[in-house]
Amino acid sequence: MSPITIDGSQGEGGGQILRSSLALSLVTGKAFRIENIRAKRDKPGLLRQHYASARAAEQISNAKTQGIELKSTALEFAPGKIEAGNHSFVVGSAGSTALVLQTILPALAQTSSESSIQITGGTHNPMSPPFDFVRDTFAPVVSHCGWDIQATCNRYGFYPVGGGTVSYTIKKTNTNGPINLLERGPLLFREAYARVANIPFNIAEREIAYLREKLELSEENAKARTIENASGPGNFCMVQLHFENIIETFIAYGRTGVSSERVAEAAVKQIKRYLKSNAPVGDYLADQLLLPICLGPGGSFRTTAITPHFETNAKIIKQFLDVDISWEREDRLSWVVNIEN
Ligand code: ATP
Repeated sequence: MSPITIDGSQGEGGGQILRSSLALSLVTGKAFRIENIRAKRDKPGLLRQHYASARAAEQISNAKTQGIELKSTALEFAPGKIEAGNHSFVVGSAGSTALVLQTILPALAQTSSESSIQITGGTHNPMSPPFDFVRDTFAPVVSHCGWDIQATCNRYGFYPVGGGTVSYTIKKTNTNGPINLLERGPLLFREAYARVANIPFNIAEREIAYLREKLELSEENAKARTIENASGPGNFCMVQLHFENIIETFIAYGRTGVSSERVAEAAVKQIKRYLKSNAPVGDYLADQLLLPICLGPGGSFRTTAITPHFETNAKIIKQFLDVDISWEREDRLSWVVNIEN
């Protein structure tokens, strides 16, 4: 069978097209060739995180590959047999460990043996899922389609130094969906955290004070802490909303020249927008849930947005799988997605 051809410049035109293609190639055994990798980005081609994702996919499947080099704008990938078991990957710098996981997880979660994965790189960096999101938001939902993910953050890795380490134990259970996530269920509790590493503690204290006031949180549910095990400086504040059917995670990162209050305000804005809707699935989770649901017996969910990321992901999935993905808008912040296969 000739390889599937993927145009990396379509739609959103970023790294997601490559990661989804790799993930889908691993689970279907179908070879592909991708051109124009990340064509819509300022620095097109493979950056460290994309390079590490492609190498990780190659490693777990003994794939035959061509073109996996830093800055490469085209590559070919033909997977062999998936090798569950122990694997270690190094992203280098603060490239996202979560996005490397995203690439290899579907294949490892569908094999009958357990895998232990260790990834070194960024654990909390902008524009990618923070470790806590993977553990608390994503993993519980995909457990309904039989993906059991146990996650540990051994060392924090912040932008730009990185050097964090995460471990994942991945195994398949007998549960097999479908995932139907249309309602949040009642709000059970809310938690806020602020963390600093190698910078003054009062930055985290000010973020927590702001979050406490704006979200009316008790002292017990809003805590500042210093992270001892991080290679470089870093700061974030995070809020988790625990509903009966979903835990949503919102994060904002500290940056030089931005006050602690403005950082915390960025988290509050995300939460306010989410709470204006009744949808359980936030913007980011929506694009990340598509693939797991398409690989199972289908399902449906209500989300706050259909992003360009989501739409592009849906197109890539359809190039590999015979699946029907549709969505309908209910109001400004509510869409219902249906997946049938
Ligand atoms: P690019 O090629 O655009 O430079 P990339 O390959 O690093 O980037 P994207 O293609 O932008 O990454 O994909 C980012 C992924 O990270 C998406 O799946 C998105 O849902 C997820 N993501 C980004 N920010 C968050 C967040 N705050 N919480 C959870 N997930 C996030």
